[in-house]
Amino acid sequence: MAYTEQLLLPSRGIIYQLSDFDGNVNVKPFTTKAYKDLLTSNASETGLKQFIDSCLVDSPIKAKNMNQNDLLAVLFKVRVMTLGNMLKTVTRCPECGASEEHEWDLNDIQINYLYTENYPIVVKLPQCGKEIKVRFPTGADVTRAKQEADRRAAAFKKSASDFLQIYTTVSLIDLDGKDIVEKAEWYEHLNPCDAIYLDEVFSEMNDAFGVKMTREGHCSTCDKVFTSYIDIGSDFFRPYANVTLGLTSKKGNLSGAVEESNISE
Ligand SMILES: [Zn+2]
Repeated sequence: MAYTEQLLLPSRGIIYQLSDFDGNVNVKPFTTKAYKDLLTSNASETGLKQFIDSCLVDSPIKAKNMNQNDLLAVLFKVRVMTLGNMLKTVTRCPECGASEEHEWDLNDIQINYLYTENYPIVVKLPQCGKEIKVRFPTGADVTRAKQEADRRAAAFKKSASDFLQIYTTVSLIDLDGKDIVEKAEWYEHLNPCDAIYLDEVFSEMNDAFGVKMTREGHCSTCDKVFTSYIDIGSDFFRPYANVTLGLTSKKGNLSGAVEESNISE
């Protein structure tokens, strides 16, 4: 039997609403075949999901149904299990362009876990006063929203991206047993204040749990402080690689911790 370790998903499994699932999955290191398949796929979304499935052992949930933040936690874990916790990185200072090499200890990466009393989460819309239930996106929700956006785009001879936001939003709302088409119609008739309120709710929920992918950097040439983030591509899984880090002016998008611990725990 392959060597495995247990990983508690950042969502703690709550968002999947599966009976007998406590949010722990067993993971094993990735193999040479899995790595080569990932390269062939150019680390596409599908390729990364197949890669993750190859590392999950008897998991009640497959990568295609996982939330993005849970997927990232699995990717970090298998990277540490297979290649070790040190990641050699290269950053290019956004100010002066100087390159610097660093070693990033992936065991220091924080995971914020989801804690909520009730799920789905009840939200009261400020204008119409209606109470609705909202959920965090699973892979199944994302797929459903894309399908419906494609369908509507074809019907109206428009681009699917014109419709994706609304279907993404309503796919995460539970509303009196309504289906996604009925919910989209309901949403389009909402008072704009309520729609904006909902956007804010979802934006806050986005920060509720996950892997903190960013780190403050400091340029020793020009003394500027900047934020860099780990871009998960095939380099992240390449033995002996120097991973070039992406740069962002924004602060970490997965902060707002409820409870924190290290990925190795
Ligand atoms: Zn600099």
